[in-house]
Amino acid sequence: MHLRIGHLYPEHLNLYGDRGNVIALAKRAEWRSIGVMVESIGLNEEVDLSQYDLLFIGGGQDRDQTLIAKDLKLVKGNSLLDAADGGVPLLAVCGGYQLLGKYYRLSTGEEVEGLGLLDISTEAGAKRLIGNIVLETELTGEKQTVVGFENHSGRTFLGSEVKPLGKVLSGSGNNGEDGFEGSVQGNIIGTYIHGSLLPKNPKITDWLLTRALERKFGQVQLQELNDNLEESAHQVMVKRSLS
Ligand code: GLN
Repeated sequence: MHLRIGHLYPEHLNLYGDRGNVIALAKRAEWRSIGVMVESIGLNEEVDLSQYDLLFIGGGQDRDQTLIAKDLKLVKGNSLLDAADGGVPLLAVCGGYQLLGKYYRLSTGEEVEGLGLLDISTEAGAKRLIGNIVLETELTGEKQTVVGFENHSGRTFLGSEVKPLGKVLSGSGNNGEDGFEGSVQGNIIGTYIHGSLLPKNPKITDWLLTRALERKFGQVQLQELNDNLEESAHQVMVKRSLS
């Protein structure tokens, strides 16, 4: 078994340890003897994204997002839409999450056009939403917490095609108002959680790996790993944030 992971725009979108998400995906696959090849995909590179088994796009500054929005529109947009259509699992964090939506309206009023892959839209707010965050999600079928760190000015509002990733127990989430965080649409997860998300939340990592393996090889049962260390670190953050 073998997975090909594509890391989109690592030079421009990589805040607060976002790269750790790709490392977590690769490690948790390798620990189960699943071979992994990670490839960086930069600006202006025209590639067939549907040939990948898993894709990741991280967060970035507004300036970088404007650059990436152009690249998505002119170079990679159709390829990314095809990949998503074909069910390639995709994790998008913060700036990358916003760019998968319909638009991101900056504080200057300028509108950065998004890919329109996710039924969401985002507007910059006056105050940044910063800090540790805890959610409750049912992504994997059972209720569990998700921990991480958020830092964004964008307020994201969800349309009817997407479901939130979870309910905010502590922190701000999509917009600081409706109590929800992130979006899930098919095999795509969009989220504001940095920190990095996947090393701190191995069940989400395994959900993505399972989606990727099922798409490629049919039904799979991921081998259990000893997650005592990850689980303890996770619980420390839950307690600290909720007490
Ligand atoms: N520039 C975006 C915002 O502030 C995204 C920031 C990020 O990726 N952390 O909303």
